[in-house]
Amino acid sequence: MEELVSLCKRRGFIFQGSEIYGGLQGFYDYGPLGVELKNNIKAAWWRTNVYERDDMEGLDASIIMHRQVLRHSGHEATFSDPMVDNKKNNKRYRLDHLVKDQKADVIAKVAEAMGQSAENFPAVVAALNANPARASEALRAAGVRDPFSGEIGEWTEPKPFNMMFKTTIGPVADDESYGYLRPETAQGIFTNFKNVVDSTSRRLPFGIAQIGKAFRNEITPRNFIFRVRELEQMEIEFFCAPGTDEDWHEKWLEARLSWWEAQGVPRSKIEILDVPKEDLAHYSKRTYDLMYDYPTLGHEEIEGIANRSDYDLGSHTKNQSELGLVARVEENLDSIAKLTIPHPETNKPVVPFVIEPSAGVDRAMLAVLSEAFTKETLENGNERIVLKLRPHLAPIKVAVIPLARNKAELVDLARSIKNDLQKLGLGRILLEDSGNIGKAYRRHDEVGTPYCVTVDFDTVGKGEDASLTDTVTVRDRDTLAQERVKISDLSAYLQAKLR
Ligand code: ATP
Repeated sequence: MEELVSLCKRRGFIFQGSEIYGGLQGFYDYGPLGVELKNNIKAAWWRTNVYERDDMEGLDASIIMHRQVLRHSGHEATFSDPMVDNKKNNKRYRLDHLVKDQKADVIAKVAEAMGQSAENFPAVVAALNANPARASEALRAAGVRDPFSGEIGEWTEPKPFNMMFKTTIGPVADDESYGYLRPETAQGIFTNFKNVVDSTSRRLPFGIAQIGKAFRNEITPRNFIFRVRELEQMEIEFFCAPGTDEDWHEKWLEARLSWWEAQGVPRSKIEILDVPKEDLAHYSKRTYDLMYDYPTLGHEEIEGIANRSDYDLGSHTKNQSELGLVARVEENLDSIAKLTIPHPETNKPVVPFVIEPSAGVDRAMLAVLSEAFTKETLENGNERIVLKLRPHLAPIKVAVIPLARNKAELVDLARSIKNDLQKLGLGRILLEDSGNIGKAYRRHDEVGTPYCVTVDFDTVGKGEDASLTDTVTVRDRDTLAQERVKISDLSAYLQAKLR
C-alpha cells in the first residue's frame, strides 16, 4: 500500500487536498492521471449500467438538498456514527475504529466485558452502541489506549455524531435558511422519481443511475482515499414490483460482481457479506456488502447492494396511509407528490420496492490500482514497476515518442501521428518528447500506458534499413514485445488492440 501511495503522488494520480497549507484531513485531489483513471472508471460503469441495458435512465441531481429531503429520508435522525472522547486530551474517535485499532488482548477484554466474542467484531460494536454506560466502563477496564498519544485514555460515554455537512443557503443565516450537502446521491433519485417517470413513460421494472459527489463528515477519515469526507458514488436505484425484489437483488449481485471482474477486480478477491439483521441500516430489508481484500487493510466494503424495500419512496410520498406500505416510515405532511407507479400486473398504483447497488468511486480507484500494481524482475535482473490496468481504464492509451527530441523531423512526425490517433476517440494520446526513451518507457509502465509508439530515424528513411521507412515501433506494456508497424496501418492496429 505504501508503495502504491507513493507512486500515486510521484506520477500525478492523487494528491493531499490543500497540501500547500498543510493539507486537510479526509480530502484528496485527483491529479492529471488520476482524473483520467477516475473518468474512465465512471465511463465504464455508465456504459454497462445505462447504455448496455434497456431498463435504465441517467440523472445528475444537485448536491445541496432541501433539509426536508434529509429529514424524511431518516438521515437527520439516524445518519450518525458513535464517537467517544478522551477526556485527557480532548481527542475524539469513532468508537468502532478506536476498538479495532487496539492490540488483540485489549479487543478481547472489551469483547468479554460486553459479553461478546472478539471473533465477531460487528457484534462487539453493536453491543457497545446499545449500552453507552457499559461501553465506557468496558473501554476503561480493558485499558484502551489513545491512538494519538499511545497512553491509556479516559473515555466518555459514546454519543451519536451526525455526519452530514450543514450549510447556509442564501444571504441570511437564520434557523430556516440551511440545507445539507447530500451524504449519498440516492436521495436525488428518489426526489426525482416522479419527474423521470413522467418524462420517460417508464414502467416497472426500471432503474435510475447517478454518479456524483457525496459528503460525510467522517469522525476519523483514514487509509488514504478509502475513507474520505468528500467522496464520489456510483449509485443505481432499481424500482421493481413488491414480491420481485428478492429476485432482482440476486440478479444485481451477480451483475455487479461481473462488472468488477471486467475492471480487473476479480471475484476471488471479493467476499460477499450478507449483513446480519441487527447491523442493517434503517431502510434495509437485506444488504450484501462486497468486501474487497485491500492491501494492508484486509476485507473492507467497496460496494453495498441493499434491498431498501418501499422505505424511500414511502417516506417521501404524500398520502402514505392509503398506499399499503410495508416499511415503517415516519409521517410525512410536507411532500406534495404521490410517488406511485402502476403495478405491472394489476395496473393499480403501487409504491415500488428498490434495489440499490451503491459503489464508491474512490474505493474503486484504490481497488483497481491495487490489482494493477505489479513489480517484476526482468531478464537482465532489473526490477520494473508496471500498472497492468485494463486498457479501457488506462489514463493514457498510447504515448507517441520521438527518439530524439532535438530532431524536428522526428518530433513533427510524432506530433502528426499523435493528432491522427487522438481523432480515433480512444481516450488520451500523449506526445512524449522528454528525450530519453528508457525513462519514457519506465514512466509509461508505471502509469499503465498499454502502448508506446516510437518514431526513430528508420521511420523517416534515415536509418540503416530502408525497408523500415514509414514504420514505427509499437511496444506492448505487458509483454514488452516490440513490433514494427506501418504508419498507414497504425490506427487500425491500435483500435483493434484497445477496443
Ligand atoms: P463504511 O461502513 O465503510 O463507512 P458505509 O456502509 O457507510 O461504508 P454506504 O453508505 O453503503 O457505506 O455507501 C456506499 C458506498 O460508498 C460504499 O460501499 C463505499 O464504496 C462508498 N463510501 C461510503 N463512505 C465512504 C467514505 N467515507 N469514503 C469513501 N467512500 C465511501
